[in-house]
Amino acid sequence: MTTLKDRVALVTGASRGFGAAIAVELARHGAHVVITARTQGGLEATDDAIRAVGSTATLLPLDLMDGATLDQIGPSLHARFGRLDILVSNAGVLGRLTPAPHILSADWAQVVGVNMTANWHLIRSCGQLLLAATAGRAVFITTGRVQRPKAYWGAYGATKAGMEHLVRTWADEVRSTNLRVNLFDPGIMRTAMRADAMPGEDPATVPPPTEVAPQVAALCMPGEQRHGELVVACA
Ligand code: NAP
Repeated sequence: MTTLKDRVALVTGASRGFGAAIAVELARHGAHVVITARTQGGLEATDDAIRAVGSTATLLPLDLMDGATLDQIGPSLHARFGRLDILVSNAGVLGRLTPAPHILSADWAQVVGVNMTANWHLIRSCGQLLLAATAGRAVFITTGRVQRPKAYWGAYGATKAGMEHLVRTWADEVRSTNLRVNLFDPGIMRTAMRADAMPGEDPATVPPPTEVAPQVAALCMPGEQRHGELVVACA
């Protein structure tokens, strides 16, 4: 498949789980994928999977808590590739599930930093390149928890809600351009995050992220595209 041939995509949280599946899916359509996360070994495994579908990747190990590094991503991509066509902001952290008054300061800072602040950095760092692309696409991964608050999930749900608001605002700001910006709620998936949240659950009862990833790739395709929407995964 070559729909995304010669396009450059950036996928965060690509060392495992949903981000790895999305990166491979975009590569399957011909994109060169810049994959980021902290775990070098995980990025290398994703790189192997991308090669196996006949495409190429650039590994960019980084910590999304490091705002100064995030601010350099756009300029670095411009220097290296001269373009960025697709951003999939997928990385996220659950934090500790606990009553709101018991959330520790360090945990709060981590969840806010990864789930919310990092997205602001990515938008300001990569926004100009995405606007310059002929069919720029940005997809931000969210969760149904935003619509359905639940005891002990406050930090996760609140930060995803904040991210959603920022993304919808940005989408409105770029409405008249070629850039299409959407939110995607994948539903439940068999990943490390899900196992952490639901340790008693039989993983075999939960769909793997590879089943859902094509729906994110569909939002990254050129041509007529949705904009400013919250897209919920269909089974
Ligand atoms: P996961 O398996 O825990 O993967 C999370 C990814 O984020 C990893 O690649 C991790 O890489 C990266 N990450 C976390 N903290 C980071 C940091 N400080 N710097 C850089 N990268 C960081 O989770 P997942 O289930 O695939 O989740 C992917 C997305 O789907 C998240 O936004 C999540 O909220 C959303 N989601 C998941 C489910 C589900 O059922 N799994 C449901 C709804 C929404 P490193 O640890 O290597 O840095």
